[in-house]
Amino acid sequence: MTSDRRYLLERVDDAAVVQLYADGFASLPLREKVLTWHLYLAALSGRDIYYDQRHELGLEMRAVLEAIVTHPEGIDGKVLQEVRRYTKLFWINSGPYNNVTARKFVLRLTKQELVDAAAAAVRSGAELSRRRNESVEQLIDRLAPMFLDASVDPTVTNKTPGQGRDILKESANNLYSGVNASHLEHFTERYGLNSRLTADNGRLVEEVYRIGGRYDREIRRIVGHLRDALPFATSSMADAIRALIRFYETGEDADRVAYDIAWVRDQESPVDTINGFIEVYMDPRGVKGAWEGIVSYVNEAKTKDIQALAANAQWFEDRMPWDARFRKPDVAGVTARAIEVVVETGDSGPVTAVGINLPNDQAIREKYGSKSVSLANVSEAYERSTPEAMRVEFSWSREEAERAKAWGGFAQELTTAMHEVIGHGSGRMAPGVTEPPHRLLGEQYSSIEEARADLVALYFLPDAKLVELGIVPADSHEQIVATEYEYYVRNALVQLRRVREGTQIEEDHMRNRQMIVNWLRAHTSAVEARQRDGNTYYVMVDAAAFREGAGRLLAEVQRIKGEGDLAAARDLFETYGVHFDPALRDEIVARVDRLKLPSYTGFVMPRLAARRDESGTIVDVEISYPCDLETQMLEYSAFARRDDVLEPPTAAR
Ligand SMILES: [Zn+2]
Repeated sequence: MTSDRRYLLERVDDAAVVQLYADGFASLPLREKVLTWHLYLAALSGRDIYYDQRHELGLEMRAVLEAIVTHPEGIDGKVLQEVRRYTKLFWINSGPYNNVTARKFVLRLTKQELVDAAAAAVRSGAELSRRRNESVEQLIDRLAPMFLDASVDPTVTNKTPGQGRDILKESANNLYSGVNASHLEHFTERYGLNSRLTADNGRLVEEVYRIGGRYDREIRRIVGHLRDALPFATSSMADAIRALIRFYETGEDADRVAYDIAWVRDQESPVDTINGFIEVYMDPRGVKGAWEGIVSYVNEAKTKDIQALAANAQWFEDRMPWDARFRKPDVAGVTARAIEVVVETGDSGPVTAVGINLPNDQAIREKYGSKSVSLANVSEAYERSTPEAMRVEFSWSREEAERAKAWGGFAQELTTAMHEVIGHGSGRMAPGVTEPPHRLLGEQYSSIEEARADLVALYFLPDAKLVELGIVPADSHEQIVATEYEYYVRNALVQLRRVREGTQIEEDHMRNRQMIVNWLRAHTSAVEARQRDGNTYYVMVDAAAFREGAGRLLAEVQRIKGEGDLAAARDLFETYGVHFDPALRDEIVARVDRLKLPSYTGFVMPRLAARRDESGTIVDVEISYPCDLETQMLEYSAFARRDDVLEPPTAAR
């Protein structure tokens, strides 16, 4: 069944569109299926919040695009083709900014062509929500600079705008409106994570994301579906859902803390959800949360290995290669699981991570621990959709390419698990440092934290402990280490394909990976840059030197976090992580394009449908795979307007 499955569905510019499968769902008990169903609807209900957070015109732009795509009659074929290309990218990236590079991409049409297409769609019956008395032409006039002009609001998140420029002013997201970073110097936010901050004649106002506040309509729907889920949840999960509802009602930080704690305490439920304002990568200050919704169930078989890591978290903590004052004396409740994702929306999809570790609140992590998951079906879909040429093109030797083929999937899943379970969960702040690290490190925090987690994984990967725990086969250990180290250094080159403009890297995970490899090149003999036939290769030549260097760098990165040493963090990333040689990037892009290799992936999620009996009771929840981005995205957008889109009327069942 799995062999003739379609993973790679289509290519849109440098993006791949891949179908995600969730095989175990059909055999879950009915109660868990019904629970998943309600959480699924809750996850879809918040999707538009994220579009709005990305840019204040994001939803209006999407409405125009979807009107045209669904009403193509009478529109010039070339124009329509271009609108479709752009719309697909827009859906994959939840708005007009590339998810990886943070830069805007544009529609390659003239304003008149766009006006004509929108007018034709309206003539064919498309409904466009316009401002009062606004003509189609005026609407397009208002949106045109965002659609067509790359120089208007060019970057969604700009953490390093250059000397004398303001990180908030230079970032086009909608987490702030009219606010400069300097406004914040004498202002204490009460709703740091969950508000939009606006400046009204110099007076700062927090528009709180809660019922009765900003995103009232979406949050009410989320809460409605969460309430529907309650009767089907385990008691510890029901506690967490009730706490989440309370937080959505009040928006108060104390309720967010209560929710985080209740969520971490629920370690047993086979089904889980992440729903809310979670990750802070979009905010250049690293404070405001982007909305996301994830629903998943546990993959028992793959969870065994990860739990072996988690159960031994203290063993690893005691051997961290950093100063003893940063070691946690008792690592609390690190849990880790492999999960199968059913849906990811908002900040978490269609472009998704392969591992998640939450909550982000450092104080809660230190006291209550954290939950770590690796997204097993996402990793599998990545692996199954990666073209063979990707491994071969950037490998120095045939052996390297063969190792990558044999062990790449395994090594990367293991490294991801270690990153999440013993990486993010580890370490503590220096005695006497009471401010949380994200406040001390500001725009450098996320990159430092990602570097720390990666380095923990890289440092312990060769450790015999992994064999002892039964996670790694002894006779292949060396090969697995080589595979991962080789992949890691190759990636520093290959990832440059994602940043097709400019000469600096914005995304935190990319910065950290660039930094680590460049630091190793400068300070160890582990990595060599070589040339062959005009092509550049990064070659991992000494695994022992690699590990030693990773340990040395990890000690420094932990010190930076633990002391909140912003100057050192800035220096580290400015020297090794942010800037790159555009000529090298151009070479990589040319090689990748010659082979038609994708730069990033957007996933089409599984689709759920509830089946009910005469009385309206759900008797089954069926899973299917749309295998089409457009179908799914239009359905999601329709669901934002009408609740019944995903449930056919009784007669149709
Ligand atoms: Zn991470």
